Amino acid sequence: MAGLFVICGHGAGDPGADGGGYTEAERVRALGARIKALGGSEVELGDTSRNWYRDGGLNSLKTDKPVVELHMDASGVPGAHGAHVIIKSGFEPDEYDRALADRLSAMMPGRAEKIVHHSELANVNRAARRGINYRLVENGFID
Ligand SMILES: [Zn+2]
Repeated sequence: MAGLFVICGHGAGDPGADGGGYTEAERVRALGARIKALGGSEVELGDTSRNWYRDGGLNSLKTDKPVVELHMDASGVPGAHGAHVIIKSGFEPDEYDRALADRLSAMMPGRAEKIVHHSELANVNRAARRGINYRLVENGFID
């Protein structure tokens, strides 16, 4: 397993969170494009015109690459900051989860937990059900 498949959160009319004159959908697409530019052929950028949450794209995605879905947090709490990685409840973080969490929390410190477990997020559950190597990343707070 090598390379990376990138899903940019929200989109297709869903702006996600906003702050500072930006929307989450636009920012994570800019980040996805940058990851693709840096990673070249190792990176597959999923169709950024889609909303992969709403259209259930993970139910039919075929890839042998690890998958990362890009988001940004918003809290309304002044001064909230930091990045973290979300994985399925009950899963142990793998080498990709740990490397991403270590790097992102060094760049964007502030969260008590670098890796958190969730059981209620649709794409986390879809990926887990299909055996897709997946994590969702909150790349700091847009607000
Ligand atoms: Zn989001």
